[in-house]
Parts: sequence; C-alpha cells; structure tokens
Amino acid sequence: MMDKDLSDYKKGTASVWAGEDQHFYEGAITSPIVKSVTFAYKDPDEWHNVSLGKSDGYIYSRNTNPTVHVLEEKIRILEGAEAATSFATGMAAISNTLFTFLTAGKRVVSIKDTYGGTSKIFLDFLPVYNVDVKLCETTDHEELETEIAKGCDLVYLETPTNPTLKIIDIKRICAAAKRVGAIVVVDNTFATPVNQNPIQLGADLVIHSATKFLCGHSDAMGGVLAGKKELVKKVFQFREINGASLQADPAYLIARGMKTLELRVERQNASAQKIAEYLKSHQKVSDVFYPGLETHPGHQIAKEQMRGFGGMMSFSLDGNYEMVKHFLQKLKLVHLAASLGSVGTLAGPPRTTSHVELTEEQRKLLGIPESLIRYSVGIENVEDLLGDLEQALASL
Ligand code: PLP
Repeated sequence: MMDKDLSDYKKGTASVWAGEDQHFYEGAITSPIVKSVTFAYKDPDEWHNVSLGKSDGYIYSRNTNPTVHVLEEKIRILEGAEAATSFATGMAAISNTLFTFLTAGKRVVSIKDTYGGTSKIFLDFLPVYNVDVKLCETTDHEELETEIAKGCDLVYLETPTNPTLKIIDIKRICAAAKRVGAIVVVDNTFATPVNQNPIQLGADLVIHSATKFLCGHSDAMGGVLAGKKELVKKVFQFREINGASLQADPAYLIARGMKTLELRVERQNASAQKIAEYLKSHQKVSDVFYPGLETHPGHQIAKEQMRGFGGMMSFSLDGNYEMVKHFLQKLKLVHLAASLGSVGTLAGPPRTTSHVELTEEQRKLLGIPESLIRYSVGIENVEDLLGDLEQALASL
C-alpha cells in the first residue's frame, strides 16, 4: 500500500498502483470485479450522505462502481487531472462530452481530421441540434486561431490524428482558446498518457478510447474523460442519466491492461520508429506518415509536446487498392482488423477501419489516399515485424 501521493511517482509506478488501495479483500492483491449493481447501507443517514455526495461511497453502478473507480483513478493520475470519469466506449466519452457542452446556439471549432465517428458527430449530428460547427484544415494553425478568435465555446482537437498522424500544437491552440474563454478537449488516444499529457499543455479535458492502448489487448471496450473537476462533473451528470456507463468486467480488463501501459508503449514507440524508417527507404512505399520521422511536417512540434512518437503509423504503396489488398493478404504477423493499440499488430485501410463511416468523396477531401494502410505496431519482436513487411513488399 502506498503512503505517498501517487502523482509523485513516475507513470510506470502510478499505472500499477493508482486506484488499487481501497478494495483489497482478505489480503487479495488485485482489486476485485465488483459485479453488484447496487450498494447497501445499514444506516439510512450514511446512505443519504453518500447519495448527496457528502461522503465517499457507492450507490448504483450506473453512476460508478468500485472496479470502475480503479480505472478512473489510474487515468486521473496518468493524465495529471483533478478528476476522471468513464464510459462504455470511446465514442460514448466523445459524444457525452460534446453533447454536455454544445447546446443549441453554441459554437465549436475543430479539425477536419478527427476520428471518423467524431467527424460524423460534427458533420451530421450537432448541426441538427443547432450547434455551429467549424472544421478547420487540421494543421492550419492560423485558420484555427482565426476561427477561435471569432468566438466559440469549445475547441476539440486530436493529435496525432487518425489515420495520417498530423500534429497540432496543443499549447498554441490552448492559448487562443483561453483568450475567448473556450474549453479545450483533446482526444489523446493515439499518443497515450505515456507519450503526451494535454492538460500540462493547457487543455481542460482529455479523452481516450480506452479500448485502444489503455486496455492494450483488444478484449474490452471503454472510454475515459479526465480534467478539471467542475467540467468532468458536468459530463458525469449527463452520462449517469443517459446511461452510457462502463461496466465492471471491461473496467477490470482495462485497469489490468493499464498496469503494463508504459512497458508496452515504450516498446511500441521504439519498434514504430524502426519500421517507419525502414518503410521510408523502401521503393515500393510512396509515403510514410509517422511523427518520429524528421521529414514529417509536424516532427518539430511533436518533439516538443510528446515524450515518444507512438505506435501508430500509416503508409501508402506505390500502386492502387488492388495492390493494397494483395499486400495485406501477404502479411503474416498482423490481424487485418479495425482498432489499434493492441499487443498484436493490426493493419487495415482507413476505408474499412477508422473512416468506414465516411464516403469516398469525404475521405478524398480529408486527403486520405485509397492506397493508405494504417499500421498499429504491436509488442512483437521488431525484427519479426520487419521481416514480415519485407516478404510482403517483395511479393508486389
Ligand atoms: N478516438 C480515436 C482516436 C479512435 O481511433 C477511436 C476508435 O478507433 C475512437 C476515438 C472511438 O473509440 P471506441 O471505438 O472505443 O468507441
């Protein structure tokens, strides 16, 4: 049991210990999966105080639950946040946050390259509720600053972006947002809290699809939100009523995965760098999108705001979609599947993964080539991954 504040420890330590100090049962050294839907009290006054939030405790698992709380504590500490809450999926975290703050008449400024599901909320859902949505060219910082200066209530960022790994200067955009009193929300899924902490750079709220790197094993879905206490509380109150709550079983798996987050991410950072450099020099590869490459347009900003460049990359082949299909089928050490951030390498074209929700025309407008392959580096030995890419490229 820790007697020191966990935020005083390094991330690898905090991710093992955070949230684990309250539910040890009969000396058990892992927090249990508490399946109980409701929590009983002998004393009605104590029950009432917990219900009113005057004392710590649990009431009903749609609000929160001891296992879910373990995960919320881990992300709170890892992101250096005042508070954290959780959701059934990453999209639940994103939609609950946006719908909490963006009521009729409000204005949001964001970027064109958000995750496909998030784009869908901006393009199809929010306008129906009379929210003014402005999506800027992703790396055009001047356009973002100009649009923010016109006045807005919320600025929504994702960096690195999905799937072309564009980089936005979080500090610079947060400064613009502060000038007009807008809340800044950053989707930190690709970077992970090991590589990047948007709150330290001025953001108010950070979102993760916990389904990805936080869980790390592709066996549970979840979403988290961390940041300023009063803002997290507002989103929590919205989520507890609309009911997109995280259940204890996936919370246990995600919290377990988070214990090895730093180990996995450090390995994925190192492997991705080697793979990106290898692909960059290959004549059958026309483009590689990885912020760790010096030739990447966002490399300097990434170097300043990230501690590692992450395990995600994308690349395009010098050929058409038929060539992409052939190449993907030749790969042996990947799952051809949607999602990312798992121990096993995953690959796929954005048109069947991150941007399946968009039309071909919308993908073209976002500058996503049809020959693009998104590659999520796993924790396999990098020599094996390089060998696998080599044999698949040689077959083209
Ligand atoms: N944010 C990013 C960057 C993603 O890549 C994804 C999913 O791929 C999401 C959010 C949505 O997460 P979930 O699938 O857990 O709803």
